[in-house]
Amino acid sequence: MEATYTQVRQGTIPPVVAARWALWTFVIVNLMIVEVLFLSAGTGQNGVLTVAKFFGLHAAVLMLFQLLLVARLPWLDRRIGMDRLTVWHRWVGFTLLWTILSHAALVVLGFARLGHTSMTKTFFSLADVPASLLGMCAAAVVVVVAVVSARYVRQRLRYEVWHGLHLLLYVALGLAFVHQLQETTTFSSSAPAKIYWWALWLFAFGALVTGRFVMPVWRNVHHRFEVAAVVLESDNVVSVHVTGRHLDRLPARAGQFCIWRFPGHNHWWLANPFSLSAAPDGRTLRLTAKAVGSTSAGLRHLPVGSRAFVEGPYGAFTSVHRTRSGALLIAGGVGITPIRALLEEESAGDVVVLYRVRSENDAVLVDEVRDLVADRGGRLHLLTGPRGEGASPFEPDSLRALVPDVTERDVYVCGPPTMTSAVLSTLRRLEVPQRQVHAERFGLA
Ligand SMILES: Cc1cc2nc3c(=O)[nH]c(=O)nc-3n(C[C@H](O)[C@H](O)[C@H](O)COP(=O)(O)OP(=O)(O)OC[C@H]3O[C@@H](n4cnc5c(N)ncnc54)[C@H](O)[C@@H]3O)c2cc1C
Repeated sequence: MEATYTQVRQGTIPPVVAARWALWTFVIVNLMIVEVLFLSAGTGQNGVLTVAKFFGLHAAVLMLFQLLLVARLPWLDRRIGMDRLTVWHRWVGFTLLWTILSHAALVVLGFARLGHTSMTKTFFSLADVPASLLGMCAAAVVVVVAVVSARYVRQRLRYEVWHGLHLLLYVALGLAFVHQLQETTTFSSSAPAKIYWWALWLFAFGALVTGRFVMPVWRNVHHRFEVAAVVLESDNVVSVHVTGRHLDRLPARAGQFCIWRFPGHNHWWLANPFSLSAAPDGRTLRLTAKAVGSTSAGLRHLPVGSRAFVEGPYGAFTSVHRTRSGALLIAGGVGITPIRALLEEESAGDVVVLYRVRSENDAVLVDEVRDLVADRGGRLHLLTGPRGEGASPFEPDSLRALVPDVTERDVYVCGPPTMTSAVLSTLRRLEVPQRQVHAERFGLA
């Protein structure tokens, strides 16, 4: 940790800033290329169709940018974090929806004006043209996915149902690709346009296939993960120790999480994210899970020796982002898991841990946390009490009373969404610089 801290002090660009710049540069360079291609291709058959083309080209770029955001490329994920990338993916997704709808509406309007017919008639005659029909089908799939991703609907759907419907976007991508290929305005408008669009599609698809398929499959074949032990931590919390071959070569860090599948025990489509609850030691990985639904509740019955399929490690909740020598680690409930792992990386001295639980009995892994804090000469405050009753320990005055030099520390927060939001709001009010604040929300979608 000290090494990272020293690097930052010496003026190196923080990793998150470097990654943001890289992404912005990618977006701006591609938009500039698309503007040049658009201008050099000349106008369409009328003004409306020219604007429609403009929206169509931008929809294609946005769609490919979407793939990069969810490709789980380690370089981006470790710097920005999957949670933040997913939030951006959501916003770009809705922008894409409106861009596609504008493109579609303008195409119909443009051709209606050209043929002096109604928009309805034009719509049905366009549906007879294969290239347009493919585009319409792609747009329809995007609309369905956008509807199920709207907050109101999303909150009422099971994660697996929503995820299954979301995967339809790959069908939309395929349709959109062929639509773009058959359209005369993009791939075939000029030789540079052809080279550019082929390169962009190959790059985006290559990134997606590598990050989502090749790397996880290769890692699982290489490491052959299996359950080494299952330990009950409390009535409703269990730790699963997973071992495998060459685990010293798995680039995992304390604070990260993996997406776990236990084939043979759970349905193959059930994959759940759990943080590493101990720093990886090159021999085992450990997750500690609270029973929330059927998958997490069933982990206690995992047979020792059964296979595990592990995707990851993912996440930016690590010491890579340290900027100060002192750390304040705040955990709520089972949010202690990545905090417990991060503690192992702490050097002697300046660490304070605030662990919020209803009662001492709910404080899982507390003995391990206590020992680690003691080894490092730090301070642990076990903050007990029912949620929402009495003064919150995370109000600005209470937090400052517990940790007077909070603004001088890096603050790592992990807990239930409401607690995490409350702590983040307090840190803003206390004017803790944003670059010193690191949060894991236990929620991706
Ligand atoms: C980055 C991250 C790290 C986490 N680390 C831990 C941890 O260390 N310990 C712990 O106890 N919990 C952790 N969680 C929460 C944990 O993933 C869920 O509690 C667990 O997936 C619930 O699964 P279930 O099938 O038992 O419950 P369900 O009732 O099926 O699901 C409960 C909730 O979890 C959501 N969920 C289910 N599967 C997924 C998925 N694949 N991706 C995103 N959300 C999903 C559902 O939408 C639902 O809201 C973490 C979550 C995230 C996002």
